Amino acid sequence: MIIVLKIGSQEDEIQQVVAAVKKFQYEPKLIRGVERTIVACVGDERNHHTLESLIVLPQVESVTPVQKKYKLVSREYQAHDTLIDVAGLQIGGKAFHVVAGPCSVESAEQAKETAQAVKSAGATLFRGGAFKPRTSPYDFQGLGVPALEMLREAREKTGLPIVTEVMSPQDVELVARYADVLQIGARNAQNVPLLAAVAASGKPILLKRGVSGLVDEWLLAAEYICVHGNSKVILCERGIRTFEHACRNTLDLSAVAVAKKETHLPVFVDPSHAAGRADMIIPLARAAVAVGADGLLVEVHPDPAMALSDGGQQLKPAQFQQLMDELQPIVAAMGRQFAGA
Ligand code: PEP
Ligand code: MN
Repeated sequence: MIIVLKIGSQEDEIQQVVAAVKKFQYEPKLIRGVERTIVACVGDERNHHTLESLIVLPQVESVTPVQKKYKLVSREYQAHDTLIDVAGLQIGGKAFHVVAGPCSVESAEQAKETAQAVKSAGATLFRGGAFKPRTSPYDFQGLGVPALEMLREAREKTGLPIVTEVMSPQDVELVARYADVLQIGARNAQNVPLLAAVAASGKPILLKRGVSGLVDEWLLAAEYICVHGNSKVILCERGIRTFEHACRNTLDLSAVAVAKKETHLPVFVDPSHAAGRADMIIPLARAAVAVGADGLLVEVHPDPAMALSDGGQQLKPAQFQQLMDELQPIVAAMGRQFAGA
């Protein structure tokens, strides 16, 4: 922490800050300039009081952290990419994976038909919502446990590992019995008890970025999971809320580049929830590969017009096949291996 004192601060005011800094177990180093004094506070900011509260002292001009708040997820902590084993698949590293499937599981047939279609197009994981975090309580909320059973059937039929969302700590144990990867949705991106509960399951976690979440907040949510002993975290950018409404959200590709630089965790992109419209999925997916994403999460439905949720953004199987065909050369140009090819 760097504390800058106001011009003209008196010696007793400087010593008051020094005493406070010591009280919080930092070592204060005074830098006396011609006009003002700076107190450099030596100590690991992540293990101490943050000192930010000292801003209320009248002689303090600013308190600035010099360290990032996250530790376990940072490249400083671990330089090499984390590789996550999901039912024998390796996520991260050279491989490029596509998770695909419907927004909601609607029937056993719909789940199986979609799983088979996305598998034959090259998807390596199957997704489908059983518990749906809908904005409106009047919208379809998901089939719950029967949907988990349908996901299990689809897994048995195709061999594709399952990614599905869990919304509450009480459901983690149940959902973990069916899922290979637990998804934390954008609406729960900073739900601390839920992050702790999914961490404790020991399962790989696909962690969406909150709809208004800063990159730091997203990475700190991942840090929560790691602090609870589970470093199998796949970050997933899914668009953020901005002033622009041409698409449902704004896909923040810069966040993907930043996350790839700052952390060793795999970073996926979900163009479906970012765009909210089917005609934008392919171009955004192409861009996601080019920016360095480790994988994609794409919504696919056999008949999007009849979908019970997110119909406007789900691809038909043939459109998904086209997406996969278009991605092939970009994945290769990025030096990656298309896992399902
Ligand atoms: C979803 O994946 O179906 C979903 C609800 O996503 P998000 O949490 O990103 O809105
Ligand atoms: Mn959806």
